[in-house]
Amino acid sequence: MSTPESIIQNTFGFPGFRPGQKEVIDTLVSGESILAVMPTGAGKSLCYQIPALLFERPTIVISPLVALMDNQVAGLRMNGIKVGCLHSGQSREENIAEWQSVTHGGAKLLYMSPERLMTGRMLSAMKSLNPSMFVIDEAHCVSKWGPAFRPEYADLQRLKDLFPQARVAAFTATADELTRQDIADKLFGGQGRILVQGFDRPNLSLAVSPLRNRSQQLLEFMKETDGQSGIVYCLSRKNTEKFAGVLTAAGYKALPYHAGLSTETRFENQERFMAEDGVVMVATIAFGMGIDKPDIRFVYHMNIPGSLEAFYQEIGRAGRDGQPAVTALCYGLDDIRMRRQFISEDGADSEHQMREHKRLDALLGYAEASGCRRQVLLSYFGEEQEPCGNCDNCISPPEMIDATQPAKAIFSAISQTGQRFGTNHVIAVARGESTDRVVQFSHDKLDAFGRGETFPKPYMQALIRQAVASGTISMDIGRYGALTLEAGALDILADQAKFKCKELARGRTESSARRARKAIEETALSADEQSLLVKLKSLRMEFSREIGKPAFVVFSDATLMDMVAKIPSNREEMLDVSGVGETKFDRYGEAFLEVIKTA
Ligand code: ADP
Ligand code: ZN
Repeated sequence: MSTPESIIQNTFGFPGFRPGQKEVIDTLVSGESILAVMPTGAGKSLCYQIPALLFERPTIVISPLVALMDNQVAGLRMNGIKVGCLHSGQSREENIAEWQSVTHGGAKLLYMSPERLMTGRMLSAMKSLNPSMFVIDEAHCVSKWGPAFRPEYADLQRLKDLFPQARVAAFTATADELTRQDIADKLFGGQGRILVQGFDRPNLSLAVSPLRNRSQQLLEFMKETDGQSGIVYCLSRKNTEKFAGVLTAAGYKALPYHAGLSTETRFENQERFMAEDGVVMVATIAFGMGIDKPDIRFVYHMNIPGSLEAFYQEIGRAGRDGQPAVTALCYGLDDIRMRRQFISEDGADSEHQMREHKRLDALLGYAEASGCRRQVLLSYFGEEQEPCGNCDNCISPPEMIDATQPAKAIFSAISQTGQRFGTNHVIAVARGESTDRVVQFSHDKLDAFGRGETFPKPYMQALIRQAVASGTISMDIGRYGALTLEAGALDILADQAKFKCKELARGRTESSARRARKAIEETALSADEQSLLVKLKSLRMEFSREIGKPAFVVFSDATLMDMVAKIPSNREEMLDVSGVGETKFDRYGEAFLEVIKTA
């Protein structure tokens, strides 16, 4: 008799469940539907794979990306699990064979895309298949409230009426309260559980540095990452190429990745990132979904992302193996202006735009936080916690200074120029610079001209950033980023309030760099262990080439690390290593034992 416990140990080779896994499995086994909100790396896949193996009738897994499906399927087969997979990259004959492996071959799981499932023909074929369960990964795509709505996902809400006997298992790593309710409503009419597993990823360090010079800041950061593998996110295709070039010139193994590259180049770069050690992917957000590499050691954002949800998902790709990993965000005023512009230009209705602006505000609140960043992040997802001790603000708390005088200089300049100008012009007026534009508009004649003369430009930029983040002033995108005064600014101009400001942030990158060093030291191995790990990785690479799948499909880094720690010398001890199940042992166990013995 199979049980969840026997399957996780014998088939997957893991010693036990991670938090939340057993609860989801038990709910599904009892016949109830569930929406599980679990952070990246929590182990969502096992939550449905194990029940699927226990059910009589097949389970349909809806997955948005072919690459994601392929690796999942390869991983399952590697563990001796029969599974089918339909997608457009396969011939008609292959797809038929895959379908038959489910109808006649005993495969309990069938992977496909939402578009494929929701066709009339497929749905009627499904009727006779009579599935036990539908699994919907990336379930936030179902909801218009969520950050990544996909129309082809919205259609999935018909499943609950078409297949009332089947449970629904929905998974996402990001969904606020409103979005969760909406997903549960759409996918199972609210007739099921919502389980929210804590969002915290304590192994990820957090840091933010205001923009000075993008290349230079990136290189400073990279110096401390010591040849480890990571992702550098850029906003534009052009910048991925540019900064990959900057890193390559500095001696790093950096590769660009964006939707404009040919399929082959993208595939090749992704394969290298997955398989080789120490590759840095310089990418747009086109890279990441479905990247199941557990040992990404850092994620560096060259620009501010669109929302805290997006940001958390992107940094969440680091440190899935639970080992320390570093994240850092670099941002400047231009980023904010650009983001606001994206929102107002995307053609959505005004309600949607307002929500997106609010999302961005929350992210700015994170970027300009003076207290613990993790508290800001988690409270956005509805969780409270103590200061974390693993963010730049916890490690070196910023000093708050009274900046009322320069703030008044800026706010007066905004006011007297008619709230029609952007940051550069406002700063020029406040600092008394007679630029062409200043002269052209006779702004050098204003009372506000030169009132903030003694404050350097970067200081004024930081001040404006903080004033925007705190809502004291706004940036009007309808008018090309013109700065406008809010109630808070009026109070300060009227001497009814003071403007407190973080000290001009110096030393921010230094502290994120320090985190990086700590992360590296904590994972440090002895020379012997290191040399064994290298041998194990190279054997893994041989197998990975042989099967044409990424290395982690053979064994994850965590599994190799566990081998290094346990030094197994026979079958029984090898089966005790986390991630070595019976089928994998039969395939690879002896070869790895041999390497360990002769090392
Ligand atoms: P998610 O989809 O939640 O980001 P995955 O399902 O991809 O996470 O799992 C992340 C990693 O953790 C994978 O390498 C997986 O094999 C591993 N894993 C999952 N559950 C366990 C467990 N109970 N014990 C050890 N490793 C696990
Ligand atoms: Zn903190």
